[in-house]
Amino acid sequence: MGVRNGKQFLDGLQDGREIWLEGERVADVTTHPKLKRMAHTLAGLYDLQCSPEFHDRMTFTSPTSGKPVSLSFLVPETYEELIRRRKALEVTAEACFGMLGRTPDYVNIQLTAMRQMSWVYGRNDSVFQERLLAYHEHVREHDLCLTHTFGHPQVNRAVPIAELPDPYVALGVVDTNSDRVIVRGAKLLATLAPFSDEIFAPVVRPLRPDVEEDRKYCISFSIPVSTPGMKFICRQSHDRGESLYDYPLSGRYDEMDALAVFDDVLIPWDRVFAFDDIELANDALRRVVMWRQYMQQVAVKNIAKLEFVLGITHGIAEGIGITGFSHVQEKISEIIDTVETVRAYMRAAEADAAPYQDGEGIWPAAEPWTALRHWYPDAHDRVIWIVQQLSASGLMLTPTEKDISGPLSVEIAKYYQAANMGAPDRIRLFRLAWDLVGSEYGSRQTLYERFFNGDVVQLRQRRFATYDYSRAQEAVRSFMSQTDTIDLG
Ligand SMILES: Cc1cc2nc3c(=O)[nH]c(=O)nc-3n(C[C@H](O)[C@H](O)[C@H](O)COP(=O)(O)OP(=O)(O)OC[C@H]3O[C@@H](n4cnc5c(N)ncnc54)[C@H](O)[C@@H]3O)c2cc1C
Repeated sequence: MGVRNGKQFLDGLQDGREIWLEGERVADVTTHPKLKRMAHTLAGLYDLQCSPEFHDRMTFTSPTSGKPVSLSFLVPETYEELIRRRKALEVTAEACFGMLGRTPDYVNIQLTAMRQMSWVYGRNDSVFQERLLAYHEHVREHDLCLTHTFGHPQVNRAVPIAELPDPYVALGVVDTNSDRVIVRGAKLLATLAPFSDEIFAPVVRPLRPDVEEDRKYCISFSIPVSTPGMKFICRQSHDRGESLYDYPLSGRYDEMDALAVFDDVLIPWDRVFAFDDIELANDALRRVVMWRQYMQQVAVKNIAKLEFVLGITHGIAEGIGITGFSHVQEKISEIIDTVETVRAYMRAAEADAAPYQDGEGIWPAAEPWTALRHWYPDAHDRVIWIVQQLSASGLMLTPTEKDISGPLSVEIAKYYQAANMGAPDRIRLFRLAWDLVGSEYGSRQTLYERFFNGDVVQLRQRRFATYDYSRAQEAVRSFMSQTDTIDLG
């Protein structure tokens, strides 16, 4: 098939999937009043890769079918191919101003990274490697959209998952037969689930090799979201179906998050990529460093988002005449430094890309990505704080579209004008800023940047425990080995 266009993508979503939103089952995500605008935003992204302007930039020739397929499935073999993939990612990120974390390219790159390390899954039984390679080809050739779910429900983080009140709170195997595995339980969480074709559920927590009860959690698989028994419980929608003037981001880019519930779901064996081999699953967790590939999408998205935030903040500062204050200049410069720091990390990771273990292709360098991953959530918070500090009351004291054309329009034109723009444009800009940092949508964006890539607290703990301190220790040893006198000649 090769790349799909927006209509083909929307048609694929009408498959009887079980999506629950605010207490009701959604009949069709492409027409539901609180989901349809996001569905159509995504369709617009699919159209880009079919457009004359971007087709060549976003696709490559499939090695099996010869058809044009998305560059997010490319196994980069050279630095030039890595940059080619980045240029494709930029089209998508810039089209949505970095406001969507989970454009389909994100999980596509994860799956491609798994494929690059497929030998790990096939180490004890080659059938698992063959399935992974076949699945990667299937997703690439059908241009599918995937959601992925790593964790388990937030019930009690103090105990292993096997010791939760019900053994099937976390997703586990109930039974197997020659055709299928039956699974039950839930996975946390699935961003983009209502708009995805498939759900990808890998093992991500280390399991205890010597504990029998842990074995049932040792399964990685992927299935269509419409598989019988699968349900998705969505959070409240941030798209309330309201005016795009009033909620310009909520109404366009609510990518939606959901808890994935598996109610005795049958997983065909050809979709099982790891099973009942805890030692291998734990080893895969350490070795299959998907983040070294998908962080390129994260960096590209964050650059697009930060440039958007910078434009909004600069526009507000000029609008209300505060750019002459030195602290305002300093704070806007801090946003610029944040954009340029993300760009520098990305370029460093790409420049030092190299082969990794026995994996296919090349892998961007680990250290710049690790530092970016650990630093960015706090840096993002600081940027959001700057938007609040410089916008002040204007962030929330904004009339609505109806006010502008209502009986008080004359007063509004007078009191809501800005130094360099009329009231409608000023209000529009401030409403955009509110949706970015203050609305439910904006709050979720901030939470996303803190947590989507794992818990930074635990990532840093792991960093502390595993970092190679030898150079640092050698520096101190070298200093201490000097005599305590300085030869003054
Ligand atoms: C908007 C959003 C979108 C997301 N999208 C996806 C997605 O598409 N797919 C997906 O798989 N995941 C997704 N995630 C989940 C994300 O990976 C998790 O939120 C993140 O890993 C943290 O896990 P948790 O939310 O279960 O928090 P918890 O693990 O419950 O943590 C709660 C608090 O307890 C602390 N804590 C918990 N355990 C420990 C420990 N062992 N040691 C020290 N401190 C601990 C944490 O530091 C934190 O402060 C998303 C999250 C958000 C917020």
